[in-house]
Amino acid sequence: MIIEYMGHSCFRVKDFQDTGYKVVFDPYKIGSVPGYRELGEEGRANVVLCSHEHDDHFGMDNVSVEPFDGECPFEIEKIDSFHDDEHGALRGTNIVHVVTLKSTGEKVVHYGDFGMDVDEFLTEENLAKVSGADYAFVPVGGVYTIDAEHAVELIEKTQPKVAIAMHYRNDTCKCGYDNLTSERDFLMKGMEMCHETQYMKFSFIDTNEEEIDYEIISLMPECCTIHDQLAGGR
Ligand SMILES: [Zn+2]
Ligand SMILES: [Zn+2]
Repeated sequence: MIIEYMGHSCFRVKDFQDTGYKVVFDPYKIGSVPGYRELGEEGRANVVLCSHEHDDHFGMDNVSVEPFDGECPFEIEKIDSFHDDEHGALRGTNIVHVVTLKSTGEKVVHYGDFGMDVDEFLTEENLAKVSGADYAFVPVGGVYTIDAEHAVELIEKTQPKVAIAMHYRNDTCKCGYDNLTSERDFLMKGMEMCHETQYMKFSFIDTNEEEIDYEIISLMPECCTIHDQLAGGR
């Protein structure tokens, strides 16, 4: 599968080798998150999964949903959780999506605006659903979600092969909400527990050829100003 990061909490996962089916997670509404432009081509999807209805996760104006001829190659599971650590009293509920590519068994977990106590969420049943994912997209910026420390706790307890930071202030491309922390806290804390920390990847292609050990990474969004500059403007 191919994973593309469009910034904030928005990712697209493609069944690359086989059907070409595209899943978009948490598209931001156009103009809702500073620095990120319209998704355009990257907003084309066969299904859109939103964790909750805040503007920075529910931008249906930013995606185009295309019909797909045949059965969805992904199994999609939704787990209820909370946006805050007061059972949703402050910010409401949040859905954690577990998406598995049936042909290869590759599992992706998107945590949305997860903000609750990690142990409370990780009941035996939920732990079985999310643990051992190939890729986990984890909010790390704090304020509205868990912060770097709790993101690392979540990763330690669920052991994804690759954890990818989302929902932070991106100082490199000057994108994201000002009041969030940058991903650096998370990467620094994460470095103590993994073999490699990587910056500045545009998309992440898993060819299944190499054994992935244990990585914590932050991807460079495809939909921000700096990407346009590097790509020669567009
Ligand atoms: Zn939210
Ligand atoms: Zn949010």
